[in-house]
Amino acid sequence: MKHQLLLTLVFSVCTAGILQAQNQRAFTKTDSLRGTITPERAWWNLTRYDLEVQPDYLTKTLKGVNTISYTVVENNGSTKMQIDLKDPLKIDEVKDAAGKKYSFKKEGSVWLIDIADQKKGTSGKLSIHYSGTPHEAIRAPWDGGWTFTKDSLGRPWMTVTCQGGAGASIWYPCKDHQSDEPDKGASLTMRVPDTLMAIGNGRLKKTTKHGDGTTSYRWEVINPINNYNIIPYIGKYINFKEVYQGEKGKLDLNYWVLDYNEQKAKNYLPKEVHNTMKSFEYWFGPYPFYEDGYQLIDVPHTGMEHQSAVAYGNWYQPGYRKRDGSGTGWGLKWDFIVIHESGHEWFGNNITSKDLADMWVHEGFTNYSETLFVDYIFGEQAGNEYNAGIRRGIRNDKPIIPTTYGVNAQGSGDMYPKGGNLLHAIKHSMNDSEKFRQILRGLNKDFYHQTVTSAQVENYISEKAGFDYSKVFDQYLRNTAIPKFEFEVKGNTVRYRYTNCIPGFNLPVVLTNNTTVLKLLPTDEWATTELKANELLMLTVEAVKSMYYIDPVQIK
Ligand SMILES: [Zn+2]
Repeated sequence: MKHQLLLTLVFSVCTAGILQAQNQRAFTKTDSLRGTITPERAWWNLTRYDLEVQPDYLTKTLKGVNTISYTVVENNGSTKMQIDLKDPLKIDEVKDAAGKKYSFKKEGSVWLIDIADQKKGTSGKLSIHYSGTPHEAIRAPWDGGWTFTKDSLGRPWMTVTCQGGAGASIWYPCKDHQSDEPDKGASLTMRVPDTLMAIGNGRLKKTTKHGDGTTSYRWEVINPINNYNIIPYIGKYINFKEVYQGEKGKLDLNYWVLDYNEQKAKNYLPKEVHNTMKSFEYWFGPYPFYEDGYQLIDVPHTGMEHQSAVAYGNWYQPGYRKRDGSGTGWGLKWDFIVIHESGHEWFGNNITSKDLADMWVHEGFTNYSETLFVDYIFGEQAGNEYNAGIRRGIRNDKPIIPTTYGVNAQGSGDMYPKGGNLLHAIKHSMNDSEKFRQILRGLNKDFYHQTVTSAQVENYISEKAGFDYSKVFDQYLRNTAIPKFEFEVKGNTVRYRYTNCIPGFNLPVVLTNNTTVLKLLPTDEWATTELKANELLMLTVEAVKSMYYIDPVQIK
């Protein structure tokens, strides 16, 4: 029971559909159409979305139009544009700016629009009108769809969650692939009853009262954004704001909470957000979306990392709905959802994996952001304890990175705690906290607003660290065995090696105290080193365990 609770706690954060999609099954044509850059997707680069929707709370339906701007990047002979939109929503009409209509046909969740072969380098714009009853999220955020619920006073409250298997095409027509983000941003316009407020990502640009009991709110981000991060929040919201003085200047912080939460939120949220910004800007560099601001918005589910509009449902209390995934107590001293979901602004939103298979780039690094937060606020020892504590959630059921790309496959939920432990092991093994920090900041600078592969991230770390970590990444990301570190002490000689690992596994073991640094470079072959007395004292099973997710065994 406890174990079950822990698994739920550790794995279910902010990745809707991550586990349910991973039953052992053969991949279908639908998976390929969704997960691959098909010829009908390859010829065009998405440059912007302008999405307008009008949800109807009573009938749980919606109608809308997404105007998709694109440039032609290659002439591959395709005369069709692939747009994804899932049942039971349907496309009603496709038009260009001149009002010309385009024919289309449906193939599963894919809609193929007939469009003449266009000249490379030109750009275009298509408005996709759609309507219907969107899939409802039953267990948001873990399954995707619309949430039509009530707040505690019985008033309408609506939002969407759609990461992972569900995808944004569960509620609006789009190019539903992580590798292509709208380079010039996106706008989201929501038409809602006058009595409700509608929040979107970024900044409120325009409010239009229609005089028929409805008002439209137009929100906009100017930066690239993941499909699944474009999200409506509709309810009885009030706003309070601050200006945070950050690394890159003034950052607008906006809090949108239900009216009856105002006082609680004012007393509680700003401190959590300031601590988050302080520690993450220290470790990762400037918040990646100053232009769009940072918003935190009340939701009925636990939370999600929606870019510059983070969804918050953690009851204004420390922990993860009052629990601590690490079991150390450190997890009860800060708000898990504020910290974790905001961590995604750097890993997930700034740096996005091209393929869902590499999703540890989002969740491994963001899980690790928790450790770095604890380190920054409560000290290094606290960070080490938290990181070791979350290991209890690791299952080693299957690898973090699945073998198949291009089918929207996701790896083990171990991508969270084991990903965080992998990065912490690398930090310790480098024994140069500042260099490690510069690597994290470098990742966010050199891959700024980009989509990447895990391989790019892995190579970047090895190159900047000046050590080939490729076998370490393979071990923890593509294998489930936990390396055994065997060592034997005779006099002041120590003999050591790794077993139960892939050939060539070579994670350095560095142990430190105030006066001494002990550095061993074990491989899968025995090695022997003479140690000084103070170094020998440091080499214990407990010391190794506290710093590394390996299995140390002292041979006596
Ligand atoms: Zn997450």
